[in-house]
Amino acid sequence: MRIGIVGGGPAGLYFALLMKKHKPAHEIRVVEQNPADNTYGWGVVFSDRALSYLEESDHDSYVDIADSLEIWDKQAIVHRGQRVAIEGSIFSGIARIQLLRILQAHCQRLGVKIQFETTVTDLEAFSDCDLIVGADGVNSFIREEYSAHFQPSLDVRSNKYVWYGTNQTFDALTLTFRENQDGVFVAHSYRHSKKTSTFIVECNAATWAKAGFDSMSDEESRSYCEELFKDDLGGQPLLSNKSIWINFIVVNNQRWSYKNVVLIGDALRTVHFSIGSGTRTALEDAIALYQAFSANRDVAMALREFEEARKPVGSQLLEIAHHSLIWYENFRDKMGLDPIPFAYDYMMRGGRVDHEKLRERDPEFIAAYEAYKGRT
Ligand SMILES: Cc1cc2nc3c(=O)[nH]c(=O)nc-3n(C[C@H](O)[C@H](O)[C@H](O)COP(=O)(O)OP(=O)(O)OC[C@H]3O[C@@H](n4cnc5c(N)ncnc54)[C@H](O)[C@@H]3O)c2cc1C
Repeated sequence: MRIGIVGGGPAGLYFALLMKKHKPAHEIRVVEQNPADNTYGWGVVFSDRALSYLEESDHDSYVDIADSLEIWDKQAIVHRGQRVAIEGSIFSGIARIQLLRILQAHCQRLGVKIQFETTVTDLEAFSDCDLIVGADGVNSFIREEYSAHFQPSLDVRSNKYVWYGTNQTFDALTLTFRENQDGVFVAHSYRHSKKTSTFIVECNAATWAKAGFDSMSDEESRSYCEELFKDDLGGQPLLSNKSIWINFIVVNNQRWSYKNVVLIGDALRTVHFSIGSGTRTALEDAIALYQAFSANRDVAMALREFEEARKPVGSQLLEIAHHSLIWYENFRDKMGLDPIPFAYDYMMRGGRVDHEKLRERDPEFIAAYEAYKGRT
């Protein structure tokens, strides 16, 4: 098969890798607009479950990914300056650029052609392809090109967020809630390499406007956030990587493929970053698409099977992500809660865990919560 892939993010690269590895005769070309060593963002999180999929799908790249992971087993919620730790959830962080480097290296070793610094603006160059994969992210050009067929919905959410890094290292997936004269803010932070952590700052639209971010330079925004979270940053500055305030866009598509063109990853649907599953979803799409092609020789059948297999699984995660996103849009209303019930409310936000599951993970936390409820 001749396969053209638009976008060298996790979805496009992992699909290329799996297809080429299992059938070296495939001719696969990935076209990426950025240079090889240049990407947006800082680190991404994987749950231990996400890692097991990678291990099963391609052991070689998994070994390299595993070598680069920072692993932690707790979450911490900082509210009113008090830190509440919740044990029992294993997560790992990896720098996005490191993940891409590993996938690029494995693709190239196998013979996948990656063409960097080339922005795809029409599909003419792929006219000889049996399959065209739109792995071109949240602002997908391919999705727009065939929007009449894919019927995408783009829901621009109201909260604002900015994706920074910092050399302050966090020993847990830490959510820090801070309040000032302008409103309420949360920082999502986690270590993704020995020396660097991701630090995403989020607030609602009213807070953002009151703080005056719309008329601040990127530098001024960064200084504002450094000042706000100075107790949490331990004197370390925030680091920028094209870090600007944006709104999260919930992407969905009625149809997933058109003729021999298919969407995967963020181009297909986005998963709110607060549940740390966007990259995982993108990689799982790549795995499912690869599996559909290993079971079917016919492109139309494989694309149909991909959609049938993935839709139900994806929709559960999307529901959790939706609840989580709504929680973040409304956390201002919960700031009156004391730290323990606040942390409990946070843990329940997506509907992924319930009281008893949380007790299994961290009996001490549940005991503290029940004691608090008993007192109030
Ligand atoms: C703030 C934030 C934090 C996040 N944190 C996490 C996390 O902790 N865990 C997690 O799992 N996920 C996280 N995500 C989500 C994750 O970044 C995405 O879900 C994931 O990168 C999707 O992979 P993808 O390959 O589909 O798209 P992308 O990674 O966006 O890759 C798309 C690629 O296509 C290229 N491209 C686009 N258009 C063109 C074109 N016309 N021509 C050529 N190339 C093109 C882009 O340059 C890009 O390299 C986070 C996202 C955000 C915004």
